[in-house]
Amino acid sequence: MSQYNSHTPISYLQGVGPSRSDLLKKELGIRTYGDLLNFFPNRYIDRTQFFKINQLQQNSAEIQIVGKITSLKTVQQKRGSRLVATFVDETGTMELVWFRGAKWIKESLKINIPYVIFGKTNYFNRSFSMPHPEMELVVDYKKNMRTAMQPVYPSTEMLINKGVSNRVIQKMMQQLFNEIPRNMQETLSEEILEKQELISKKEAMFNIHFPTSHELLTKSQYRLKFEELFFIQLQLIRKKMIRKSKIKGYSFDHVGDKFNTFYKNHLPFELTNAQKRVLKEIRKDVASKAQMNRLLQGDVGSGKTIVALLCMLIAIDNGFQASIMAPTEILATQHYNSIKELLQDMDVEIALLTGSVKTKARKVIHEKLENGTLDILIGTHALIEDKVKFKNLGIAIIDEQHRFGVEQRSKMWRKNDLPPHILVMTATPIPRTLAMSVYGDLDISVIDELPPGRKEIVTAHRYDSNRLSVFKFMKDEIAKGRQVYVVYPLIKESEKMDYKDLMDGYESISREFPIPKYQISIVHGKMKADAKEFEMQRFIKGETQIMVATTVIEVGVNISNASVMVIESAERFGLSQLHQLRGRVGRGADQSYCVLMTSFKLSADAKIRLETMVRTTDGFEVADVDLKLRGPGNIMGKQQSGVLNLKIADLVKDGDILMSAREMAFEILQNDPSLETEENINIKRTYQNIHKNAGVWSNIS
Ligand code: ADP
Ligand code: MG
Repeated sequence: MSQYNSHTPISYLQGVGPSRSDLLKKELGIRTYGDLLNFFPNRYIDRTQFFKINQLQQNSAEIQIVGKITSLKTVQQKRGSRLVATFVDETGTMELVWFRGAKWIKESLKINIPYVIFGKTNYFNRSFSMPHPEMELVVDYKKNMRTAMQPVYPSTEMLINKGVSNRVIQKMMQQLFNEIPRNMQETLSEEILEKQELISKKEAMFNIHFPTSHELLTKSQYRLKFEELFFIQLQLIRKKMIRKSKIKGYSFDHVGDKFNTFYKNHLPFELTNAQKRVLKEIRKDVASKAQMNRLLQGDVGSGKTIVALLCMLIAIDNGFQASIMAPTEILATQHYNSIKELLQDMDVEIALLTGSVKTKARKVIHEKLENGTLDILIGTHALIEDKVKFKNLGIAIIDEQHRFGVEQRSKMWRKNDLPPHILVMTATPIPRTLAMSVYGDLDISVIDELPPGRKEIVTAHRYDSNRLSVFKFMKDEIAKGRQVYVVYPLIKESEKMDYKDLMDGYESISREFPIPKYQISIVHGKMKADAKEFEMQRFIKGETQIMVATTVIEVGVNISNASVMVIESAERFGLSQLHQLRGRVGRGADQSYCVLMTSFKLSADAKIRLETMVRTTDGFEVADVDLKLRGPGNIMGKQQSGVLNLKIADLVKDGDILMSAREMAFEILQNDPSLETEENINIKRTYQNIHKNAGVWSNIS
């Protein structure tokens, strides 16, 4: 064994001094031998082919040529100077040019000695030149470990400026492979290698940096992606298993009177098959002796509320209390009203608790909660306050969970002796691969079907120049008795301009839709809460026909008479936000519309977003496009980026590998939950190493 291991600081590597090691740390996060080893190329180029100067063509890709420098000159220019070399082979002459680092490069270049140069060529004044070529003496070129496919490593402006070119990184990699132990430890078990037909760790690591053939490169990539995803899944599944075995939950072992009466006599519609399936999944979960931790995904309008209510009735039938927490007062109130209506003929005690409930009323609620006469509590953040004590909370439901922090959610866990069952609901569809990586430790249910009879929302894209016809359309719909939303973007960075746009828009709509014939509400973030609420209520009651707003109306608001959503500057919204906004209409029986207003100037991505919105109303399809456009880190936000900080796998492209990795992880843990067998010794060691060293795998439930 060599004295070096993966924790050896990178400055120990031959050729890496203190300043370069600082640079590697800052620019690439590389601190140790292990970091460098796991720094993977993001593409490869073919270097089997050599060109002659007289074969060069305009706009060619990166190429390599063998030749000599015959002369060097420094040319003064406006700022600094550039270095120009005359480079010849037996077929012609070209120039090599450096705009930066001229002095340093000039000293290092040798005249009349054969070089291999590599780079992209420019064509100007009927001659070719190559700016900032990678250069290597032919003698060195022949000596070095080299293969047909040349790796290209991710780089930064700073690295290039400081002379750390791709070539330099390749050299460091070679040096690294000279120094590290030859028998690199295997991280997976024989069983996995065999079943998944994976090559060994050692072979994969070598070939990812120095591919000896296309085939081996492909196998190496597969092996390393599999490994990366496997250990993430292993951790998530293990966490889930531990929770299921260690954390006891309340068992709702029977379905009783309340549930049955409601189901038979008061359910206003038949459940969709998706709702029935999800309900079954939940029932099975809460009847086991373990605590449920389930994510319920369902597009806007898919009917999550009724599922939540039925779950709460099961809890009540088993002698427990239940709660729903929503992110805003409006939403909480809406839940309260609709559930109260559904339960009007039932003997179930229910209350609403929000920040604006007066002290006296609050006291009554607290009392009834503690003596157990209150069955269901619905509310906002007010629910998680320590003062709010339940006699016997059995299930806590959290709506639009992404609006709550982990911290807030975990407070619900402590509202009873054993943690209550937790059901988090979200209307933001998460692509499957992403859900399995981020919420892989939760159980996931999906309502993937809308209630029957819904009319698909008609979505259209219109340019600002068509505004008059859009106004006309709004008037026609209002004449039919409908209501209209007009939404403006509000982005922090351009807040001032955005408010101006909102106010300008409000004014022009006021002119176009004059009182008394039309009434307009306006709601935005700078208004006081009660003013907001007042305007909102006017719209809910139908006193106003148009609601001009910023994105405050995004979440969950359900006004079934509002059937038109006009989104201004739609090109500035993200896809999932557009989809969420569109979900505010299409709640009632009427045909609904969504109009996306934009200027003519659209980026390529914006075009794709708009086309996607016009093409489909399927939230999962929208989410898939969003994932492709923005990547996983941006979709899930900082909080989760740890798990998504993948070195080689790609959640967009490697869905199949992820599935195999998850199945394999599951199989392994089922047979050997604590990884104690001889067979799994490699896995256990690697798993422990990852945990010791990487904070990135922190808790994420
Ligand atoms: P979300 O999933 O967005 O929370 P809701 O629970 O608010 O959706 O339901 C949207 C609307 O659909 C409500 O008016 C609800 O009464 C209705 N609904 C829910 N399930 C069904 C069903 N199976 N059949 C008909 N209407 C339903
Ligand atoms: Mg809802």
